[in-house]
Amino acid sequence: MASSSNVLAADWLGVCRRAAEGIGALLKAPQSAAERREETGTTGEGGDRTLILDADAEDLVFGELERLHALGFDFVAISEERGHVAFGEPGEDPVRVIIDPIDGSLNAKRGLPHHALSIAVADGPAMQDVAFGYVYDFGPGEEWAARRGEGVTLDGRPLAERPVEHRADDGRLEILAIESADPRWLMLSGDIGDVARRIRAVGAIAVSLCQLAGGRVDGMVSLWNCRAVDAAAGQLIVREAGGFVSFPAFETPLGAPLDLEAHSPVVAALSRDALAQLSLLPAPLAKRAP
Ligand SMILES: [Mg+2]
Repeated sequence: MASSSNVLAADWLGVCRRAAEGIGALLKAPQSAAERREETGTTGEGGDRTLILDADAEDLVFGELERLHALGFDFVAISEERGHVAFGEPGEDPVRVIIDPIDGSLNAKRGLPHHALSIAVADGPAMQDVAFGYVYDFGPGEEWAARRGEGVTLDGRPLAERPVEHRADDGRLEILAIESADPRWLMLSGDIGDVARRIRAVGAIAVSLCQLAGGRVDGMVSLWNCRAVDAAAGQLIVREAGGFVSFPAFETPLGAPLDLEAHSPVVAALSRDALAQLSLLPAPLAKRAP
């Protein structure tokens, strides 16, 4: 059994790139709108109804994981549709690979551009332990990657500068990305108008987090509890870009576990002030500690 540091040093970027390439081809295959919306008839471990597209995309990721395991690396995959899957004998505190084969499935299903492959690799059980994060946004064809302590790359190049927080003259954040944007939760949430001048709702948590890392928005908040598969990679990308992330249902901001339950909203910002403001927004019912 390889040690976890050896497993972390595996070619995860290569695994992710090959998976993204395969899923990209799958998404480009000629399909009718009805075919894109087709369901497998099952519900994924994460609770969403599984599209055939989701299941096929996950198969491609698992194919790459099997190839990596065959090279002698043991780990546990935690994936939206299949749940926990051990590769080899990863031990009691395994390296965890957290996968959302398509974050923003609804966008993919309807033909809206932002939907992404999200993969995180961690050497512990919680968000703070994520050591590698990868998000490939199939809309613009952008690849975001981060390694703990080493910063962020966009399309293979280090981000040119730390993202800058923009505020309107009245002090509100210029643009806030919201996710889990069910209008009912929007109504229940704190006064977003006090905090932000404009909102954008992309429809993919991983993608929204990357927009913050790139300085394209000035904050990000999910109005309802999110799952680790959606946020694990993106939260490292934000932090490695110089931003801040919190899962406010937990006492420790990055204490949210890497599992399949929706435990807490995710909140991210480019300053600690904005993070504190945004942490008050998610609908109150979403903030119950697990
Ligand atoms: Mg998904």
